[in-house]
Amino acid sequence: MSGLKPPPLRDDCFALPAGVDWVPVDQALARLRERLHPVMGQETCNITRALGRILAEPVIAARANPPLANTAVDGYGFAGVVLKGQDLVLPLVEGRAAAGPRYQGHVPQGHAIQILTGAALPEGVDTVIMQEDVTLGSGEIAFRAGVKPRANTRNAGEDIAAGEVALDAGRVVTPADLALMAAVGADEIQVHLPLKVAVISTGDELVEPGQPAGEGQIYDANRPMLTGLLHQFGYHPIDMGIVPDTSDDLRRTLNEAAAKADVILTSGGASAGDEDHVSALLNEAGAMAEWRVALKPGRPIALGVWQGTPVFGLPGNPVAALVCTLIFARPAMGVMAGSGWHEPQGFTLPAAFEKHKKPGRREYLRARVRDGRAEVFASEGSGRISGLSWADGLVELGDGAMEIRPGDPVRFIPFGNF
Ligand code: AMP
Ligand code: MG
Repeated sequence: MSGLKPPPLRDDCFALPAGVDWVPVDQALARLRERLHPVMGQETCNITRALGRILAEPVIAARANPPLANTAVDGYGFAGVVLKGQDLVLPLVEGRAAAGPRYQGHVPQGHAIQILTGAALPEGVDTVIMQEDVTLGSGEIAFRAGVKPRANTRNAGEDIAAGEVALDAGRVVTPADLALMAAVGADEIQVHLPLKVAVISTGDELVEPGQPAGEGQIYDANRPMLTGLLHQFGYHPIDMGIVPDTSDDLRRTLNEAAAKADVILTSGGASAGDEDHVSALLNEAGAMAEWRVALKPGRPIALGVWQGTPVFGLPGNPVAALVCTLIFARPAMGVMAGSGWHEPQGFTLPAAFEKHKKPGRREYLRARVRDGRAEVFASEGSGRISGLSWADGLVELGDGAMEIRPGDPVRFIPFGNF
């Protein structure tokens, strides 16, 4: 008899191996946040090509928006001082004020001028009455009392004054930002260089999409997913391919990735098994901080540094790989890329499901919103990739125990908010 005994049975498969402390998600995130810093240089970029880029300097308004006081409607402009609470008849001056070059003449007090939306207010005009609210006679207009001085006009600079900050550094440029930058006269702006992120899949079982897959082989689902996410974040993915489960191959690929990229994402091989070379190599490099994060799905995640380059050793499971990327790698990469730590905005919705949740770990469920309620995918199996496609986001359940019934409030985070 060898004396070898099976481990005592546990009713919780996430019970800690002896002597290991699980790091709560918030603590892990706080540590990441304090350790990382921006690494990216900058370049000049024309605003026409700036969509999705990260501002390296604030954009200052070269010009006010609007540059001149103007009219918000089509109608007739005059000096508001004539309004004394009675119905009015005002003679019209010759010509009209339209968007484009400003009307040159002066509109005398007690007179009105036809004016079209966007036209700068001519001299003598500070109030506009809508076309629909007047009766047009020959060379004059009549309208009812009740028009307020300055009605239907916009002040110069009421949106943004010249010299004001239009957009802050760190901002990821949206289509609306392009409109704002154009309006305030921005042209060439300073942006960060895109973060370069190497993506490595590990596993002897993996084959490239498009290749024949033998028995025991599966297609590499993580690389296309991670590469797609990186594109959406505005980063520059570097495809390092599939690496078999040998230390030498992985070491060589990590060396190459560290030389090319600012961050490395690996998937698979991150736990402590025989073929888990990612965690083994990071350990060997001496920079390994293997964080046993109390997170489901997400065990295991390995974080380390390879030749000065941060490595996120994501779980092999596509569902866990996605969740870990969104929860950990995303905000961390934001700091490095120059857009800062990003807290995903979620919102509280009534649950359309019930669940008994164990204490001691944060959980993320594949979820979507229907009829104002959060539905979760029928299976929590972390191999169910179809559930990721089914979902529009994640329901986040806090670290404690929970008994969730339909109608109870839960936090939903859309994928697009990460
Ligand atoms: P590992 O962390 O390497 O033990 O992998 C955990 C599970 O995820 C295993 O079932 C792997 O086959 C699977 N897996 C690992 N990498 C990938 C990948 N790139 N695409 C799809 N499944 C993967
Ligand atoms: Mg593996």
